[in-house]
Amino acid sequence: MADRIYLSSPHMSDEGYEQQYVQEAFDTNWIAPLGTNVNEFEVELASKVGAKSAAALSSGTAAIHLALKAAGVEDGDVVFCSTLTFSATANPIIYQNAIPVFIDSDEKTWNMDPNALQEAFRKYPEVKAVIIVHLYGLSADMDKIMEICNKHDVVVIEDAAESLGGYYNGKHTGTFADYGIYSFNGNKIITTSGGGMLVSDNEEKIAKARFWATQSRDQARHYQHSELGYNYRMSNVVAGIGRGQLKVLEERVKKKKFIFEYYKKELGQLEGVSFMPVNDWDQPNYWLSTIILNGVIKPIDIFNALEEKNIESRPIWKPMHMQPFFKEFDFIGAGVSEKLFEKGVCLPSDTKMTEHDLIRVTTIIKELW
Ligand SMILES: *Cc1c(COP(=O)(O)O)cnc(C)c1O
Repeated sequence: MADRIYLSSPHMSDEGYEQQYVQEAFDTNWIAPLGTNVNEFEVELASKVGAKSAAALSSGTAAIHLALKAAGVEDGDVVFCSTLTFSATANPIIYQNAIPVFIDSDEKTWNMDPNALQEAFRKYPEVKAVIIVHLYGLSADMDKIMEICNKHDVVVIEDAAESLGGYYNGKHTGTFADYGIYSFNGNKIITTSGGGMLVSDNEEKIAKARFWATQSRDQARHYQHSELGYNYRMSNVVAGIGRGQLKVLEERVKKKKFIFEYYKKELGQLEGVSFMPVNDWDQPNYWLSTIILNGVIKPIDIFNALEEKNIESRPIWKPMHMQPFFKEFDFIGAGVSEKLFEKGVCLPSDTKMTEHDLIRVTTIIKELW
């Protein structure tokens, strides 16, 4: 059997940057707690994306949780959330005992539909926060969405877990709203093996997030707590991997884009195939190359044909409002996300893929037509 081709797997730098930073952590015995790598990773990431400050955390999910907490979301508050996403976007709403209302996708972006969002504001004027996802590295229509949100007293959070390195109108996704979050999970464009980052221009809130993330320890020799705390901080070893990975982010985006364009060239002419939408304002990171099938060939045909040859592919995220766990919550929209789920295929987009691997994938797919 030929080597497995993955959707997106960890890809360390050829230069070994990650190991150098990890070695530093060992040499100084700053294995834990915290240390230089954590501090520097925060500064470097914030400067890379153009945010004032950042808190390095144990996961992207933890970052969303603390963003909601910083937004003041509590028991019974309503939070609007893109329905087409990974469950990690929505779960923290439940951690805060708040009520998610899921918003449909816009055909034009696959991300939150501004019209559905407007309708949601009419139905739930008391809403406390909005979480906007930039799916597969594509940016949401931020001008329109922020214009709508700014008319209301609402805190906006961007889930840019999948879009680090991508821009909307020349500005990094994750830096338009009150808070942005990134993930360094193993399948993301860069990885620390696991981790996340919360960014904001509000330095006080970021300091508060760091406080919550280290068990809310008050300034006192004895262990004193006046608030609920969490163990959400990133370790100094892991942050070393992140610092190394950050150096190759642009290189990874370049390769992801190459993969997307290769697929477009090879598969774009096939009957019924269309590609994820790249708008004029959008400079995506192309995290996953994704297609929609409107013809005779169905996603399952591609999944099966590729799996048989040891190649990973997947459907588009199953919308949150279709998930058994979230079915009691409201959904606003016409069901664009449901169609995307039904017809979408995420193609292998691993940056370690060679041209030979790409030929393997496209040959198998083309044989189905
Ligand atoms: C990966 C991901 C997350 C969660 O990140 P973790 O670091 O795995 O907790 C959140 N939202 C989206 C859209 C993601 O893809």
